[in-house]
Amino acid sequence: MERETRARSVESDDLSGSPETLLRCIDVVQEYRRGGGTSLLPWHQQGGVTVRALDGVSLDVRAGEFIGIEGPSGSGKSTLVHLLAGLSTPTSGRVELAGVDIGAQSAQKRSRLRHRNVGLVFQRFQLLPSLSARANVALPLVQSGVPKRERRERAVDLLDRVGLGDRTTHTPGQLSGGEQQRVAIARALVTDPQVLLMDEPTGELDRETGARILDHVIEFSDDRVVVVASHDEQVLDRTDRRIRLVDGRRDDSQ
Ligand code: ADP
Repeated sequence: MERETRARSVESDDLSGSPETLLRCIDVVQEYRRGGGTSLLPWHQQGGVTVRALDGVSLDVRAGEFIGIEGPSGSGKSTLVHLLAGLSTPTSGRVELAGVDIGAQSAQKRSRLRHRNVGLVFQRFQLLPSLSARANVALPLVQSGVPKRERRERAVDLLDRVGLGDRTTHTPGQLSGGEQQRVAIARALVTDPQVLLMDEPTGELDRETGARILDHVIEFSDDRVVVVASHDEQVLDRTDRRIRLVDGRRDDSQ
């Protein structure tokens, strides 16, 4: 019963079939507080500084687009990916996922929206070391209340599609870096998300492995949104469009 209720409420957060603009940022500012003491005094009396990681960024991404976010280290790329994923909320401005203002949702609702609609891939694969590749990929489906047999079938199918059909019972420690990243991509796609966000996905991979991983991503990206933050020209070259950030602002001069 509990499972049924949960599955239904997750379903209601399903944004597939939504408007053409799947992701939108409107004048987004993100500030971090750095330094200062740990006393109970208000922060501004503790000598810390405010870092403005994003300073008025606006962006529209339509279904089917593969977008690259480029810029020097510290320009705000990761911060933007985290905001688009609803992992954090902006200091000001709006981030919309299929027209839904993410910042206006409760943390619980944000987490459900993300879980149902967003796949995330980070530079360090963030796989659970004690679980097999198959169990790592199936993990997001546990939260959605998908029955065990179906979880297993979907995980094996995705591992097969990223070329790891013969590695499903291996743990991350038994896989190479490139194989682990393919497991991470399979995990990000197992819920069939509308949006795939990647933060430096090829940063720790050799060129050939990076290219293979991009092939998989492009194959899956057909009618979804893929946003990738990267320094890697090999990745950026394959995107439809690039957004360049410099000091937290869009630089459209190129
Ligand atoms: P990039 O991904 O382009 O390297 P980031 O988004 O990681 O850039 O960082 C943008 C700026 O925000 C940098 O100055 C960075 O030091 C700062 N920053 C990022 N995360 C935090 C944090 N949690 N606390 C304080 N400052 C942060």
